[in-house]
Amino acid sequence: MNYINADLHCHSVISDGTLSPEELALRAKSNGVDLWSLTDHDEIGGQERAIKAAQLVGLSYLTGTEISVSFAGKTVHIVGIGFDHLQTNLVAGLQSTRGGRDERALEMSQQLERVGIKGAYSGALKYAGNPELISRTHFARFLVDTGVCSDTSEVFRKYLTDGKPGFVEHKWATLGNAVTWITQAKGVAVIAHPARYGFTPNEEYALFSEFKEHGGKGVEVITGSHTSEEAVRYADVAREFGLCASRGSDFHSPTESRIDLGTLPQLPSDLTPVWSLLANNIH
Ligand code: AMP
Ligand code: MN
Ligand code: MN
Ligand code: MN
Repeated sequence: MNYINADLHCHSVISDGTLSPEELALRAKSNGVDLWSLTDHDEIGGQERAIKAAQLVGLSYLTGTEISVSFAGKTVHIVGIGFDHLQTNLVAGLQSTRGGRDERALEMSQQLERVGIKGAYSGALKYAGNPELISRTHFARFLVDTGVCSDTSEVFRKYLTDGKPGFVEHKWATLGNAVTWITQAKGVAVIAHPARYGFTPNEEYALFSEFKEHGGKGVEVITGSHTSEEAVRYADVAREFGLCASRGSDFHSPTESRIDLGTLPQLPSDLTPVWSLLANNIH
């Protein structure tokens, strides 16, 4: 197959990115992306805009989302690609899973208040383009802009992560639900950035096996969150589990993201790209 510059993972202001779907489409096009997907966290409210924007700049498009899942005591992200974004179970499932974010944000703010950081909830909310999708990223931007931390990675080192002030354990979707919502809507489910979770080998084996049993088909091998060694490792895992491979920058912002849209290395040529399963779903 001829080489395709696919970027199937990024975020807009509809979740925790800083650019609009239209700005992302333009940026993807000018960076040489051929096939694009906008994968906002737990949200598909930007899909119509992304489809239209992609069409306008002459970019092939697959619908997308990134679903937060609770698995083995951690949060795992499942990317869904190429689904029917009007399918009712998917729309309702995503709405229910993002429903708990506001209460979580209030609790995060209370914890931060106890360590002397005031007004974090209302502060973070100002950064959220979509109030239903208030996320740790918006808190991180607030903590940087108010001078509490010098950058977002310092925020996540000192706050908002397990054991630190501002971390609130949350019950997200189950793995089975997330994969089923995506596949029932005729999309493909993909395990996002597997190296990020810090699972034991047993937990990781359980994740990949259960994901396959539920009908999951792909894994991100080339992502902005992987080192080149991790990409080699998860290419092997894709071969071992017979999964297709995906590629996505996980771009959030021109000033915060290390990897820009469309600038990652290619997938290893022996792996089957996830988009080969979705030829009929491209806009
Ligand atoms: P949430 O869905 O509210 O738990 O927020 C998760 C988001 O926080 C992720 O999608 C990333 O955008 C961001 N994030 C998580 N960990 C880090 C980190 N160590 N550095 C920068 N951003 C992070
Ligand atoms: Mn994010
Ligand atoms: Mn993620
Ligand atoms: Mn992401």
